[in-house]
Amino acid sequence: MKESYKICFAASECFPYVKTGGLGDVAGSLPKALETEGCEVKMFLPLYGGIKTLEHGIKKFEEISGVAVAVGENFHVFDLWKATLPDSEVEVYFVDCPHYFNRPNPYTNDPDEDERFIFFQLAIVESLQRLKWSPDVMHCNDWQTSLLPVFLKTTYSWDKLFEKTATLLSIHNIGYQGMFSKDAILKAGLSLENYSPYKPFEHKGTFCFLKAGILYSEIVSAVSPTYAHEIQTSELGAGLEGVLQTRSGDIYGVLNGIDEKIWNPRYDTFIPYKYTTSLLRNKVKDKAALLKEAELPANDELALVGIISRFASQKGFALLAPVIREIMELPVQFIVLGSGEDTTEEFFKELKSAYPDRVNVYIGYNNKLAHLITAGSDIFLMPSRYEPCGLNQMYSLNYGTVPIVRKTGGLADTVKDFHEFNETGNGFSFEDYTPQALYSTMLRALTMYEDKKVWKQIQLRGMKEDFSWKHSADLYIELYGKAIAKRV
Ligand code: ADP
Repeated sequence: MKESYKICFAASECFPYVKTGGLGDVAGSLPKALETEGCEVKMFLPLYGGIKTLEHGIKKFEEISGVAVAVGENFHVFDLWKATLPDSEVEVYFVDCPHYFNRPNPYTNDPDEDERFIFFQLAIVESLQRLKWSPDVMHCNDWQTSLLPVFLKTTYSWDKLFEKTATLLSIHNIGYQGMFSKDAILKAGLSLENYSPYKPFEHKGTFCFLKAGILYSEIVSAVSPTYAHEIQTSELGAGLEGVLQTRSGDIYGVLNGIDEKIWNPRYDTFIPYKYTTSLLRNKVKDKAALLKEAELPANDELALVGIISRFASQKGFALLAPVIREIMELPVQFIVLGSGEDTTEEFFKELKSAYPDRVNVYIGYNNKLAHLITAGSDIFLMPSRYEPCGLNQMYSLNYGTVPIVRKTGGLADTVKDFHEFNETGNGFSFEDYTPQALYSTMLRALTMYEDKKVWKQIQLRGMKEDFSWKHSADLYIELYGKAIAKRV
């Protein structure tokens, strides 16, 4: 029988309120799926300055306000605001403290970045005490909430409310670890005793929030089975592989799902022509609309390659430059949407000026355009150096947009390389992180693109994949059970 647990879901971003990447999507979907499976979920988020309270029906939660929290020697006060996650009963509590959260972006390089998330996490525990709500599991996500397991087992160990609360830490990207100077330990009200090599708080001369979380949580999860393995290797562990290896028996991989109401060509309100497996001609119309929007000439001979991404070195776009001339000799057009590192932005801008008829580039964040690119492109390119889960390849598969990916992390778990002879596969993938491997895979894909019958079969196999959250939610519920069993 499936258990129905009380889950406190702590996250630093959540769609539709605030999102910078995959964590935002997960936080916006998984709690709903858990609720559907019988769990009671309360979520906590910071009330960042950019969150539109009126638009999202977020209201002041009068029962809890003016709570003072000490961060080191400084006290700051928070109020709580509340909403329900759209299409669900999931209660979302927003920690309102303008001193820390009224800034242009959710994440900053400000000198008090450590304080901001120490404050947020302490405010969560203080709120639970005032709500008198004892979660079975505290589900933490990434370094911004990875001190919660530490707080529950130290600062708040006296409180019977949390006596049985187990903790699960999900790692969405090991590249971001929350490494701060030793002073942050005092700001968090924790003991310096644990700060020395091989002790939980010290990592490479810093106080590392993520390391502490990994060592204090009952269970650690990563966002895909392959990534759960990769983070325990020196190649992709970003220096935490040794720490993770000490917990290897408690590390699990659960692939993210996708919100199939939002990312579904059958219902997508952002695309001009909705479609299904039996109405693929509408996808062709979306391609025409996308090309028009991008002011690129329509040409049936050319495959349209879409890219939607943060421009971070992780995403592998450095592989393009050495082979871009050869790639542009292939029958392709590109539509690129993203922002981030200057070198990548410059690279794509130059590509656009060199090939104005074949490339358009949008620097920035645009959700509507992301939907149109996902629907209107023939191919979606994700040559990531590493990719914990990746969502865009799953969206693309469900939209019949054939992904070309590097075989790493969640990309390896979702994109099955096309095999000409057995007629299997839903996309194209390559293993070596080299420009040559990327080029030859694009060449292979474009050769297949010319064979419309084979191409359609690849598209249909992708569209039939089931990436619904139900399956992942069931796996998390199993992990909650394991965490609870370890806590008692
Ligand atoms: P990551 O979390 O590493 O950024 P994911 O593939 O897990 O990568 O998730 C990225 C999410 O952010 C997807 O929903 C994607 O569509 C969205 N996204 C990324 N860049 C942009 C952009 N420039 N405009 C709109 N959406 C974007």
